[in-house]
Amino acid sequence: MDLYSGHINKLIEELAALPGIGSKSAQRLAFHLINMPQDKVDRLAHTIVEAKKNVRYCKECYTLTDKEICPVCANPNRNHKLIMMVENVRDLAAYEKTGKYEGVYHVLHGAISPMLGVGPGDIKLKELMERLQGEVEEVIIATNSSLEGETTAMYAAKLIKPTGIKVTRIASGVPVGGDLEYIDEVTLFRALEGRTEL
Ligand code: ZN
Repeated sequence: MDLYSGHINKLIEELAALPGIGSKSAQRLAFHLINMPQDKVDRLAHTIVEAKKNVRYCKECYTLTDKEICPVCANPNRNHKLIMMVENVRDLAAYEKTGKYEGVYHVLHGAISPMLGVGPGDIKLKELMERLQGEVEEVIIATNSSLEGETTAMYAAKLIKPTGIKVTRIASGVPVGGDLEYIDEVTLFRALEGRTEL
């Protein structure tokens, strides 16, 4: 017997399919949404639809943006010859928060993981290599220190080296397996400063 209405069940099911939301959280959220005033629910639904419709990849660095070119890439005061390769938009945000990095980024949207069946063709590596045909002096590899992050770093370094462009890796000191976004700004800055050539 279904304890809840069909609509509630469907809502719980959709919410539970989101990352990090277990079935208990999904139930809690579903009931919260149902109890919210209609205008607030409408606004939330509208915000989700509009974000999905309007957010796209930056044509240069592949971060998520509302414009063709993101604010970092569009900024003439940034050093466009220095590219930091990160796994995701959250890592980019973590480095931006330090306020100390003057270069631009390249967002891979993932990391190579043979276990999960994610290959080099599934992340934005080809796009990075295309960018390197322009004037680039250094690529800073800032993938996480997880197995996937290290695999991606090694793979990318091997691809980039023959181009003659300097390849560096952020210093360890970033805890092993640690997600970059959870590391404090000072540690991130130190990791950047202490980067070594591969
Ligand atoms: Zn960009």
